[in-house]
Amino acid sequence: MEIKKVAVIGSGILGTQIAVQSAHFGYGVSVYDSDPASFEKAFQDLKTVLSKAVGKPLFTPDQWETEARKIKRCAELSEALDEADLVIEAVPENLPLKREVFKQIDSIARPDAILATNSSSIPISRIESATRRPGKCLNLHFYFPAMGTTMVDVMGGTETTPDTFEMGKAWVRSIGCIPLTVRKEILGFCFNRVWRAIKRETLHMWADGFVDFRDVDRAWMIFTGMPQGPFGIMDNVGLDVVYNIEMVYYNESKDPKDHPPEVLKAMVDRNELGRKTGKGFYKYPNPEYEKTDFMK
Ligand code: NAD
Repeated sequence: MEIKKVAVIGSGILGTQIAVQSAHFGYGVSVYDSDPASFEKAFQDLKTVLSKAVGKPLFTPDQWETEARKIKRCAELSEALDEADLVIEAVPENLPLKREVFKQIDSIARPDAILATNSSSIPISRIESATRRPGKCLNLHFYFPAMGTTMVDVMGGTETTPDTFEMGKAWVRSIGCIPLTVRKEILGFCFNRVWRAIKRETLHMWADGFVDFRDVDRAWMIFTGMPQGPFGIMDNVGLDVVYNIEMVYYNESKDPKDHPPEVLKAMVDRNELGRKTGKGFYKYPNPEYEKTDFMK
């Protein structure tokens, strides 16, 4: 089987990037989201991110616009799945929801279609049994922002066939990314587990009053040369997404040290979710870390 058509289910901040990037590399792409306004909102937010991107992002804002126009936006799930060879689920980080979405996808998609989850933390082994094709399921985990971070974790479940795994890796390469192969199931995949350790440590340092989050970000920016530090990155990811991911780790370990700080939950409850709601650790669209005097 050759992958020609890709369907992305859930066109929020990540699903939209995956869709646009796939279209850019020549795939036919359709998207479905239970909120019809989602793609446009994520698309505009991402255009802003792109206009400020440093380094070598895959797109210019103009290209981004052109590629996005190629994507078929569908009002029904069945329309998006029509003829899809690869389906990528990018709905919120919630296991029952993902299982339900996989079940629906499995009942409609072609029997030979590969089903991937972009989950940040949930291994496919916990989702695969919602389908009748566990051999064709895998994790394909993109990073934010996908248009600049060209790496994708690839991890199989208990029954993922070698063919499915290799096709997943080949497809990742075909859209300009490096597959990070995970040989044995681990919560957090490859690099995401490293990033998670940074998040846990910095969130607790801030929440327990040891440091100003801005200093952590300044240090990170100097150390890595990145345009944002961990708190700026978390704002861009979405603090609700960050909170949910931390809860997945906590629910796994039940170690109190893994529980995300209550002050983070309070921010989520106040709808301070980061860039997407205009306020998180920083205020958007012009966060402090993008100003020249931030590093003084
Ligand atoms: P998001 O909230 O921006 O987008 C999720 C989208 O799914 C929303 O548009 C929502 O309307 C839609 N949705 C909800 N229920 C649905 C359903 N039943 N059917 C179809 N659409 C539905 O979230 P996101 O940040 O794009 O994250 C999506 C997934 O990608 C999560 O699993 C997350 O862990 C993972 N991820 C996120 C990031 C990140 O930086 N944000 C990075 C890597 C992976």
